[in-house]
Amino acid sequence: MRVIQLGTTAYADSLFRAGELIAAARQGVAFTGAGISAESGIQTYRGQGGLWNTVDPKFASIDYFLSDPAGYWTNAKERGGRLLAARPNLAHEALAELERLGHLAGVVTQNVDGLHELAGTRRLVELHGNGRTVVCLDCGASEPRAGVQARLDREMPPRCRACGGGRLKPAVVFFGEQMPVRAVREAFDLAAACDLMLVVGSSLVVYPAAEVPLAAVEAGAPLIIVNAEPTPYDELAAVVIAGKAGEVLPELKRIAAAA
Ligand code: NAD
Ligand code: ZN
Repeated sequence: MRVIQLGTTAYADSLFRAGELIAAARQGVAFTGAGISAESGIQTYRGQGGLWNTVDPKFASIDYFLSDPAGYWTNAKERGGRLLAARPNLAHEALAELERLGHLAGVVTQNVDGLHELAGTRRLVELHGNGRTVVCLDCGASEPRAGVQARLDREMPPRCRACGGGRLKPAVVFFGEQMPVRAVREAFDLAAACDLMLVVGSSLVVYPAAEVPLAAVEAGAPLIIVNAEPTPYDELAAVVIAGKAGEVLPELKRIAAAA
């Protein structure tokens, strides 16, 4: 395991080693977390500047949502607006390009911001849902979050148009909710069959999602971790690159494409 800091010769070495591992991969899997979207202006939960440093995580629990939907939507209004306005950054784009080049089989993400899809990733597994959509807890209809966001000023909490009054919730997995069974199965299938696991921007402490990279390691795939801060899996990695996803990923793509 090598932890490498930006701006050193060792950093260049580790970029090169990671780039070569990616170049050799034919069915690599990228596993991403909130850190890959930080440079798109979306706050992470943990780590420096993370949301949980200032906000109680209970606000993301299903119990709280059901007990006070208006309170939830009032809290979520600003963050929801930022999520809808966010655009993919160079890291999302590099992963989409690595898929097109045939090195990645797909992306498994914990993120709910929809930025991998906007960047052009074709095979995408969203473990925690997608916050650009809302679902009605009463009739099951879904609609784009943008329309709901636009009427929050006059309708609090927002109500379902399809059934005329049902409770609307972002289509994301809250604390206390089950993860989508099909997505979880697909993520572990991809991990078990991959020949490289590339983790980007995840603290690797949210379970069971964090078990996905572990499944790849157990199946014998080399692990690359790109994260701003250390993770509990650094010891298992072939290469650890401490840096910003938007700076590191384009470099890795360039090296892999040239190899
Ligand atoms: P996390 O917030 O626990 O950890 C993010 C990690 O990214 C931290 O270790 C941090 O050091 C690192 N980081 C911050 N900026 C970075 C950058 N520019 N480049 C590289 N690394 C950077 O995130 P997680 O591991 O994804 O787990 C948190 C849960 O929060 C997930 O379940 C996810 O659903 C949810 N979440 C999603 C979003 C989103 O959709 N963008 C945002 C916040 C939280
Ligand atoms: Zn409804």
